[in-house]
Amino acid sequence: MRIAAGLIFAGAVSLCASGLAWSQTPPPGSAAAPQAASAAVPAPAKAACANPNALGIARVVEIDTTGGPGFGFEHFKQLDFLRDHEVVLTFDDGPWPLNTPSVLKTLAEECTTGIFFPIGKHSTYYPEILKQVAAAGHTIGSHTWSHATLTNKKLTEDQRKEEIEKGFSAVKWALGASPSPFFRFPALQHPPEMVNYLGTRNVAMFSCDLDSFDFKARNAQQVIDVTMKKLDKLGKGIILLHDFHKHTAEALPELMHRLKAGGYKVVKMIPKAPVQTLPQYDEELLKEAKLPTVSDRPVSSVVQTISQ
Ligand SMILES: [Zn+2]
Repeated sequence: MRIAAGLIFAGAVSLCASGLAWSQTPPPGSAAAPQAASAAVPAPAKAACANPNALGIARVVEIDTTGGPGFGFEHFKQLDFLRDHEVVLTFDDGPWPLNTPSVLKTLAEECTTGIFFPIGKHSTYYPEILKQVAAAGHTIGSHTWSHATLTNKKLTEDQRKEEIEKGFSAVKWALGASPSPFFRFPALQHPPEMVNYLGTRNVAMFSCDLDSFDFKARNAQQVIDVTMKKLDKLGKGIILLHDFHKHTAEALPELMHRLKAGGYKVVKMIPKAPVQTLPQYDEELLKEAKLPTVSDRPVSSVVQTISQ
């Protein structure tokens, strides 16, 4: 369904479709007061952007994930919330040394943002890198525990649920706080019963509007060319990239310049509330992965003060 109408209310615009709602906070500097997000990851205070030519953030949309809305026209065609020339940047498969920090550096230089879909196992390998993603103010969801393809017939229903739930528990462990109830299926394979399950868990599902195919790219230029060609054809969309891959990290500075030059604007997506992980999987994760509990860790490794 296309969103046909909006209501102006209390300085923010609320859009409703199919029982789902977004409320949008205005960009920094706007006269209207931004709405507070109730995400458990502490949101860093807004810093002034030092780069006058930065891509920036055009607007922030808050997602009510009740019932598990789906985003990305490759699989979910009901919610068309992006305006012409608006994009959402998404990054899968991290956190990973070198490449994730490089992506973070480029996004910081451009004063812009994305949604990260980390793999649970990777999050337990490199919690400090994932904490840097959170500290930079990006939105963090999950992308399963071990990147298993959930349409694989060899997996039982319990194993599929475990992939989803343990992924969120691992990201929560790494951050020391609950991530967003945003999920992306590995290989964009969406088994219907898991789509239904995520609905019952009030987790939003993210496919994409355009796949950069950066994981297949031979070099950075190919990532840029494929992405811009598809984007110029569609005119807007949720872009699938991988902070895990070297070519993507290398391509990002030029890709950001091309987006800016093409008149594209970045939309930040945040949830209305953080995900509620299930205690059973939080405990299973600690037992299996032999991870220290959050209370065993020093405060400084969990909470970072962001200087402005
Ligand atoms: Zn992936």
